Amino acid sequence: MQVFKFGGASVRDAHGVRTVAGIIQQQNPNQLLVVVSAMGETTNALEQLIGAYLRRQDNTYDLWQRIRTQHEQVIQELAGEDQTAFGQVYDLFAEVESLLQREPDPYTKPDQIYDQLVSYGELLSTRIVNAYLNQSGLDSYWVDARRLIRTDASYREGKVDWKQTCEYITDSLAELLSTSVVITQGFIGSTGEGNTTTLGRDGSDYTAAIFAHCLEASGVTIWKDVPGVLNADPKWFDETVKIDQLTYQDAIELAYYGATVIHPKTIKPLQNKNIPLYVRSFLHPQNAGTVIGNFEQRLPIPSFIFKMNQTLISFHPKDFSFIAEENLSKIFGQFAEFGVKINLMQNTAISFSVAVDNRPDRLAGLLSRLQEEFRITYNEGLELITIRHYDDKTIERVLVNKKLLVEQKSRYTVQLVVKDLNTHGL
Ligand code: ASP
Ligand code: MG
Repeated sequence: MQVFKFGGASVRDAHGVRTVAGIIQQQNPNQLLVVVSAMGETTNALEQLIGAYLRRQDNTYDLWQRIRTQHEQVIQELAGEDQTAFGQVYDLFAEVESLLQREPDPYTKPDQIYDQLVSYGELLSTRIVNAYLNQSGLDSYWVDARRLIRTDASYREGKVDWKQTCEYITDSLAELLSTSVVITQGFIGSTGEGNTTTLGRDGSDYTAAIFAHCLEASGVTIWKDVPGVLNADPKWFDETVKIDQLTYQDAIELAYYGATVIHPKTIKPLQNKNIPLYVRSFLHPQNAGTVIGNFEQRLPIPSFIFKMNQTLISFHPKDFSFIAEENLSKIFGQFAEFGVKINLMQNTAISFSVAVDNRPDRLAGLLSRLQEEFRITYNEGLELITIRHYDDKTIERVLVNKKLLVEQKSRYTVQLVVKDLNTHGL
C-alpha cells in the first residue's frame, strides 16, 4: 500500500482540491492512504484566532468568520447547487462556534486549548477533500487521525506512543484499505484521555511517515509545489538543481539543518523499515521528482541551506572560570526551558557561542536569567549558511560580499555564520 501526503499549498482553493482529487483518482482505488494538511494558510489564521480567543479579544468572532468564509467559498465552488456531500463540514463549523462561545477554561492549559482548536484546520480540509471525492464517485473513507495517533500530553509537540499507535492503525485500517481510499488528517493526534494533541507545526509529513511505518507501506509520496528536493531554496539561490536520488542520511541532515522541503522527523520511521520517500510536484504529476531511500551514492552536488535573521550570542563566565560541563549544563538547561533551538554552537576556553533564530520574545527571558553568571555579547542580523558535501570553491562562492564570523567544518558539512556586507553597508 501507498501513503500520499498533500500539504496546505496543494489544497489552498477549489482548483487545488480538484487537482488533488485528480491525482488520487489516477491511483488504484484501494491500498492508498491520503494524509492532508489544513488548507493554505488556515493554521496561521487559526493561531491568530486562538490567541484572540484566549485573550478574549473583541475581534475573535471576526477572525473565525474569515476562516469559515474561506472554506465555504471552496465548498460552493466544488459542490455547485447540491451541497449534501459537504454536510459534515458544516457540523465542524458548528463545533468550533460552540467552543468559541464558551469562555476559555481557566483550568485548562492554553496549549491544550490551542491543540483542540487548531486541529479544525485539518478536520475541515479532509472533510472537504473526502466529500469532493465521494461526490465525484470515488468511494473514499474519512478517518479521524485522533483515534489512531496516540501521543503523550505534551500539547503542541505530542510525543508519539509508537506501540499503541501502530496497534490502532493496523487494527482499524488494514481491512478498510483493501476496499477504499482512506483520507485522514496530518498533524493531529490525541492522548489516552482523548484530548486532542498536535505533533508540532508542519507535522503532517511526520504523520504520513507514522502511518507508512505502521502499515509497512511500499512508499510515501509527499506532493509539493516544487519539482522535488532541490540543492538550495530558490528563494535565496538562482541556480538550483533538482536532486533525483537522495540517501536517508543526506535527507535527515538536510532537513535537520533547516531545508524546509521535508519535516526532519519524517525520515527515521521510514528508514527503519526501508520505505522509500518520493517528493513530487502536484503541478506536474507526470514527473518523477526525488526519491529518498537506501542508496549507495551520496549527494552528487553540494546542497545549501540558508537561515536568515540569526543572532550570535556569546557567554563569558563572570568568575573567569573556563567553559566546562557545569557552565554548559546551566546554559543548555535554560535554552531547553525557554524553548530556544540552537542552530550552531562553538566554544573556546573562556566563551561559549550559539547561533539562534532571532526570537526576542523567547530570548529576552533566557538572557536575563543567564546574565547574573555570564557576561553576554550578541550580534544580530546574521545569516547561517550550511553546505552539505561542500568543497572550497562552494565556500568561496557563498562568502562573496560576506564577513565570516564563525566557520565550523565536519567531514561532510560546513556551517558559516556571516554578515551580509551589502545590506549592512559595512
Ligand atoms: N497545518 C499544520 C501546519 O501548518 C501542519 C502541516 O501543515 O503540516 O503547521
Ligand atoms: Mg500547513
